[in-house]
Amino acid sequence: MGEKKVYSVAIDGPAGAGKSTLAKQVAQNLGFVYVDTGAIYRAVGYHMDLMGIGPKDKDGIERLLDDVNLKLTYDAGGLQHVILNGMDVTGEIRTPEMSRMASLISAYPAVRDFLLDLQRDMARQYSVVMDGRDIGTAVLPNAPLKVYLTASAHVRALRRWKELTEKGQTADLAKIEEDINERDYQDMHREHSPLVQAEDAVLVDSSEMTIDEVVEKILSLARERM
Ligand code: C5P
Repeated sequence: MGEKKVYSVAIDGPAGAGKSTLAKQVAQNLGFVYVDTGAIYRAVGYHMDLMGIGPKDKDGIERLLDDVNLKLTYDAGGLQHVILNGMDVTGEIRTPEMSRMASLISAYPAVRDFLLDLQRDMARQYSVVMDGRDIGTAVLPNAPLKVYLTASAHVRALRRWKELTEKGQTADLAKIEEDINERDYQDMHREHSPLVQAEDAVLVDSSEMTIDEVVEKILSLARERM
């Protein structure tokens, strides 16, 4: 029995660059599975938080990793759900606290190693568009297409602010930009698998581009290479 051929598109970049919106659309268009890897870091953070373990408690986190059972499932609309020990935590992990928690615990090599197999298994089983911080550099170094998606911190903060205010929530633009800068700093300066552009990644700066333009650009790159 021959193995079926699968392809991977790796999309990395800082928080709020539009990776998930974009990766979702690219995946849909190519008929690939969209894998949001940030969600699994968030789920690990969520578990630690539930157990009363703070982000600085490296030993506690390492000890409790054994109790974490994660599964990724997809609903009819292709939306990813994160199942943590049998519980769907997809909604619970999308808070600013869990963003911070994920960023802090993702610096521990034990956490990164723990999540590596899950990510690689997905890419072995399915053709994927996978987004994260180290997909092109560490998780899928042989991906035929790697994109490093970025935008200025100000533009990223503005987009997030618009998203929140459109939902009727009050939001402080300066605070959002500060959070984005803090998370960028943590993600780029950690010792293990920091956020950097892979040498063979295509740099896309979306500051002055619409989502549709970015999707088109990535699709045309994908068509060239696959
Ligand atoms: O992408 P998202 O904002 O959901 O990711 C949350 C945090 O998880 C990031 O700030 C980053 O620290 C961490 N992360 C990571 N490696 C990935 C995906 C996310 O370190 N591949």
